[in-house]
This record gives sequence, structure tokens and C-alpha cells, in this order.
Amino acid sequence: MKTEPPTNTFIEPLVEELKVAWNGFDLKSYKSPDVPVLVRLALLCVGCDIPASRKLCDFLGYSATMGCNKCMKAFIGGIGEKNYGGFNVSEWNLRNNSSHRKLVQKVMKAKTKGSREELERKYGIRYSVLLELHYFDPVRMTILDPMHNLFLGSAKHMLKIWNATKILRDEHLGMIQEKIELIQCPSDVGKLPQKFSSSFGSFTAYQWKNWTILFSVFALKDVLKLDDLECWRAFVLACKNLCTRTMKKSNVKLAQKLLLSFCERFEKLYGEDRVTPNMHMHAHLDQCINDFGPIYSFFLLVVQF
Ligand SMILES: [Zn+2]
Repeated sequence: MKTEPPTNTFIEPLVEELKVAWNGFDLKSYKSPDVPVLVRLALLCVGCDIPASRKLCDFLGYSATMGCNKCMKAFIGGIGEKNYGGFNVSEWNLRNNSSHRKLVQKVMKAKTKGSREELERKYGIRYSVLLELHYFDPVRMTILDPMHNLFLGSAKHMLKIWNATKILRDEHLGMIQEKIELIQCPSDVGKLPQKFSSSFGSFTAYQWKNWTILFSVFALKDVLKLDDLECWRAFVLACKNLCTRTMKKSNVKLAQKLLLSFCERFEKLYGEDRVTPNMHMHAHLDQCINDFGPIYSFFLLVVQF
């Protein structure tokens, strides 16, 4: 069986260059061509979807029991049957840079391959060459991308659940289509593709964002039962609060409260076995915003808000 080469093999040369860049190098400036300017560079964050960011920063993926790179919550269950439910956030033991580095040292000191792998599973981490950058904080600097987390994650999952559980039937999809067609959009807001019922599976991230924030509550009113609609509204309101160019701390708190309300309602209505890793990660989105600013600054998509 072919196995992937370790990610560290590919990023070692980059880390060597980043070390040099941190110490600084001279660059000629057009403003003062005779006096070189000292330039220093640093890696500020790693931003990609969850499988890629876990590989790059050497956290175990979400199929592992210790599958979160922000906390030590254990996801109980066999492969493909993990339980990601439970949103009592105050009980979660959050990871941090210093304890992460100590645990990695412990993993690296293991005397046998078997004991090393056991420790990796126990802590959900491996050694990453990025740790050679003394300033790199793998917990805070491995960002959670809002596009994958919110729109390609929970927004898409929600429609799949409503379809699978027959909460949305064919006639409902027809009603949604009629309502969407009633909406006159300004020219700078992209329209949703025609034939909602057959096209939502292939929405782009931008279309998922528009569906969630602009169209969905109007289109789903009188289509969904009140409990389902209220659960979804909590998610929509959270996204509306998050998708702004400027944010106050109070907006972050409100959005976080709404996201957790969505997650708890979802778990109650649809069952803990349908809770996804993305929903668990919703509870960590506020940490990324507090570190990096409004989601527009670390969103992996060029969008207009
Ligand atoms: Zn977590």
C-alpha cells in the first residue's frame, strides 16, 4: 500500500527560509536605493480546510479520538461513528502553545515506534517542523477557515439533513424555488442558480453564503416547522453577525452564543450522531476572531460583504 510522504519533508525547506526571514535581510528600497532596508518576515497563520491544516501543523484528523486542534475533548466512538456532540464548552480543556510543545517533546522521547504512536493518539498531536519556528503557536496560528466551517460545512450539512429526514420534500423545494424567484437582488449580489432543488448540491461557497444570509429564512418560512426554523435562524443570525468588515467584541460574543444555540438545538432535534466536526469547531471560531480580527481578514475566499 502506498503511503504519503511525511508533510515535514515538504515544509522543511520553507521553515529554513522562514528562520532566515525572521532574522532579517537587507532589501533595496526605491525610496533610498543606497541605504538597504532591513526586512523581517514571519509566518502569521496557517489557513486551509481542516484535513490540510491538521496535516500541515501535525494534529491528528477529526477521525481520531483526540481530533480537535483547539481543545482536548475526546470524540468517543469507532471510525466513522465518532460522537462530536456535547457543547458544554466551559468543561473543555483548551490546548495552548506551551503545553502543546511539552507534549510534543514527550512524543519525541518515546523509545519505540509503538509507544510514540500511542502517545500521538493519546494527545492528538505529532511533531511538526513548524515548531522549529520559536514564535509559531500551532494552536492559535492554525486558523479555522470560516468559509469551510460555516458555509461549505454546516449550511450545506443542514440542507442534506432536511432532505435525508424528509423534512424537505419535493413540494417544499418547489415552494422554496418560487420564493427565491420573488426576490429582486441588487446587481452586486450574485443570484442563486435556477432550479434550486437540483443545483444546491453544487453551490459555490459564495452561493452558500448568499443562500444562508440573504435568502434562506424568507424562503424557509412556512416551509419548515417552527423548531427547525428557529434552529436554522440561530445559525443565520450568527453568520450575519460574523460576516462584517468591522466587529466589536460584543458582536463576537453574540455570534458565539448564537452558534452554540444552533449546535445545541441541532443536537436535540436531529440527534448527536448527526453532529459534525464542523459544529464542534464552531465553538472555537471566536478564538480565531479574537486573534486575527473579523472573519474577512482570514476568510479563504475573496468576497464582498
Ligand atoms: Zn475543540
